[in-house]
Amino acid sequence: MKFQKNELVRLKIEDCGVDGQGIGRADGFTVFVKDGVIGDTVTARIVKAKKTYAYARLEEVIEPSPFRVEPKCPCARPCGGCQLQALSYDRQLDFKTERVRGHLERIGGFSKVPMEPIIGMEEPYFYRNKAQFPVGKSRDGRIITGFYAGRTHTIVENRDCVLGVPENRQVLDRVIGHMERFHIPPYEETTGKGLVRHILIRYGFFTGEIMVCLVLNGDRLPHASLLVEALREIPGMTSIMVNVNRKQTNVILGESLLLLWGKPYITDTIGGISFQISPLSFYQVNPRQTGRLYAKALEYADLHGEETVWDLYCGIGTISLFLAQRAGFVRGVEVVPAAIENARQNARRNGIENVEFFVGKAEEVLPEEYRRNGVYADVIVVDPPRKGCDERVLSTMEEMSPRRIVYVSCDSATLARDLKYLCARGYILEKVCPVDQFAQTVEVETVAKLRRG
Ligand code: SAH
Repeated sequence: MKFQKNELVRLKIEDCGVDGQGIGRADGFTVFVKDGVIGDTVTARIVKAKKTYAYARLEEVIEPSPFRVEPKCPCARPCGGCQLQALSYDRQLDFKTERVRGHLERIGGFSKVPMEPIIGMEEPYFYRNKAQFPVGKSRDGRIITGFYAGRTHTIVENRDCVLGVPENRQVLDRVIGHMERFHIPPYEETTGKGLVRHILIRYGFFTGEIMVCLVLNGDRLPHASLLVEALREIPGMTSIMVNVNRKQTNVILGESLLLLWGKPYITDTIGGISFQISPLSFYQVNPRQTGRLYAKALEYADLHGEETVWDLYCGIGTISLFLAQRAGFVRGVEVVPAAIENARQNARRNGIENVEFFVGKAEEVLPEEYRRNGVYADVIVVDPPRKGCDERVLSTMEEMSPRRIVYVSCDSATLARDLKYLCARGYILEKVCPVDQFAQTVEVETVAKLRRG
């Protein structure tokens, strides 16, 4: 071991790790410095020393990087939500591009990755349509809300998150004010006592509709009608609900919902298709960029009106309905039954009839439909969770042999692994396009186009 805990080292940050931490070298040892920005010369204090590398905390920036910017949010460092606020947005986009390219080269084994320029945001702040604020107490006993610090459940107090919409503040002030006025206790994770766990807020970017859902360790909020009155003053308020979660768990939402006022959902649109969103539904959190992401997926699908398309991992059918406007017929597969119910409703709402949805695991539904019913596909679109596609999905796709496969991915490492599988079996990687859905964080979405060779 080279370094001792608490030792101070001076180094230049030369690289950026996958979690956004700065990476530098001191005496030949690799040091990961949280909050260090590529190009900075810093002093950092060692917090954990290993044989060949160490973790350190940024102590002082001695010479700032030309890419260093002042974070918009005063809580950017302690809060676990953002990792890259101190890096200029252009550089964030470069970082994400290189991350995708690096995975495709190292894990996928591709040598010349056909990358298109990353699709960045016009306004890399205030883009999230959903926020879930935990409620708790400060050391001095005040009721507070904000976000968890990285890797812990300590609440960093903040009502003005710069990734969310300004309306959040108005909601939080009223809910916390109500709790203070009537001495309503926040939930305590350690004891399981207290009432208010989380405040979930959703905002329809295209409709201006707001949903507030209080997650309670119980089914009754004292003086609820007074809070409803206060929340209704906020323009756009459409839905006020309670979600009951009595379990001692870190899963935020429980199963049952009670309507306090308004509708049990809000409505929003992506690319001209409207969706009803309930507190429990999955919905993309950055609707502007999602429109662009889907447009890219549609471009890669290259549809002319007659094609049969499968959309695997379809959620509430957002991509399926987008594709259906240009395809002959679309079949969506999704494992969550409630999401499929939403998908069917969304199809009806929009008068889209050339779609069919299946509930089940993609790795079971697709092979079964192929073997038993001999289903066919011109194009298959997949949008799996982080762990990527099950091998049974990949092998069935290979057998079905569609002309094109469009892969939408939220984890470029598993994307690279799956593309390698398909490209070893006759597919050619034609294009890859990263899309930034989550500015200020290290996450990146990618769309890839494969053509049958
Ligand atoms: N395409 C949708 C959702 C993508 S998120 C959209 O853009 O909105 C990934 C989805 O895959 C989630 O809805 C998740 O519930 C679903 N999922 C997870 N594992 C699955 C599996 N094995 N088979 C089918 N769907 C699955």
